[in-house]
Amino acid sequence: MYQNDQCPLCNEHGKKAKPKMIQPIIKKDLKHLIVDDLYYLCEASSCEVVAFNENKDCIFLLRDVILNKNEIESNTDCCKSSCGSGSGGCCKK
Ligand SMILES: [Zn+2]
Repeated sequence: MYQNDQCPLCNEHGKKAKPKMIQPIIKKDLKHLIVDDLYYLCEASSCEVVAFNENKDCIFLLRDVILNKNEIESNTDCCKSSCGSGSGGCCKK
């Protein structure tokens, strides 16, 4: 028998999280899948599961979430993404 707080994939005990807490990291087109239930976050680094609810019928995997600041930064860093070597000049005075 699984306990409610155990990750369905790696069986590690998850960390409690409210739906509101996981909402910001879930990708836009999947937000409607978030149910008003208690969630747990799997913190095992090798596990693909990021969050799951108590019933284990709503599970978010790594590919379902916006992972970290790096992803956001790579979208906004003009020097790397649009100016290349910097010759474009947008990051120079
Ligand atoms: Zn896990």
